[in-house]
Amino acid sequence: MDKLKRREFLKTASTAGLAGGAALMAGCGSGQESSGPAIRTDRTYEWKMVTTWTPNLPILQESARLLSQWVEEMSEGRMKITVYAGGELIPALEGFEAVSQGVAEMGHGAAYYWAGKAPATQFFSSVPFGMNAQQVTAWLYSGGGLELWEDIYAPFNLIPMPAGNTGFQMGGWFRKEINTADDLQGLKMRIPGLGGDVIKRAGGSAILSPVGEIYTNLERGVIDATEWIGPYHDYLMGFYRAAQYYYYPGWHEPGTVTELMVNKSAFEELPAYLQTIIRTAAARSTHWVLSEFDARNNEYLQKLVNEEGVQLRRFPDTVLTTLKGYADEVIAQLVETDEDSRRVYESFTSFRNTVTGWTDLGEKIYYSGAMG
Ligand code: CA
Repeated sequence: MDKLKRREFLKTASTAGLAGGAALMAGCGSGQESSGPAIRTDRTYEWKMVTTWTPNLPILQESARLLSQWVEEMSEGRMKITVYAGGELIPALEGFEAVSQGVAEMGHGAAYYWAGKAPATQFFSSVPFGMNAQQVTAWLYSGGGLELWEDIYAPFNLIPMPAGNTGFQMGGWFRKEINTADDLQGLKMRIPGLGGDVIKRAGGSAILSPVGEIYTNLERGVIDATEWIGPYHDYLMGFYRAAQYYYYPGWHEPGTVTELMVNKSAFEELPAYLQTIIRTAAARSTHWVLSEFDARNNEYLQKLVNEEGVQLRRFPDTVLTTLKGYADEVIAQLVETDEDSRRVYESFTSFRNTVTGWTDLGEKIYYSGAMG
């Protein structure tokens, strides 16, 4: 920017900044504002939200309840959402269908649980060796990701919204050590989404059991390994009593997005201010969830290692390289056979390539330890 342009920019920046901010807020509606003139704004709404989580699951089920509370507070009681954990109204993994059909107006979970309905959903939760929390959030809100997500859900009469991120996860709990890729042969592991497909390609089997059954399966040897989230949740699940080795990094989930999905017809019948309130609550939840994970994980990692004697293990580089190769194959096959996955992945990778150059200049060096 030359001197004159810079001066002009500074002169207009203070007022333009305000206007820009207002435009940004309006933009949060993402073109979904209701246009019907006959909608009354004083009507009250009583909705149901079903989640994929267990009733007392910290942060995740908690965030679903908070979201409901925030909507009620912001709407001054005009919108009440009753939250049902997995199994309370419908089985945990049937939320997609239930919200699609309007059995409940809202669902809370993670998009990779719906891979059986539409494989492209997986890119909106977690991609093995994909983007981290900060990058994927930027893709969704500012890189076209959310528009694509809305597009993929629209035929199911659903509107998706990001509602949280777990941050980087752990690689999981293993009853035996993984020293080479051969140790993955025959491994029975609880692992969802594309990560599960990678394990299958490595010669193992991937099982997607509901949260409530994972511990028992691991303890009884029905499965040899499980991933879940990170130290805080894994500690509370007690996995350290059933498996000795705790592996990192979570190559399969570098920054998993949790979602709020809303029945599209029900959402479009709401007055615009309630639509905005719901979107605002979901955005606040995105921020809250990641902060909670980041604030608690290290404390519980220390507890696991120092109080419970957990054996921390890093996946050998050769294993990670092999898994990365399989992940590329799994995704290549998916995008070849599914047009929606192809266009979503194209956007995902092109954004990732753009953003990585920026990350490399700062954060990569910062995390390498060269800055202290
Ligand atoms: Ca996980």
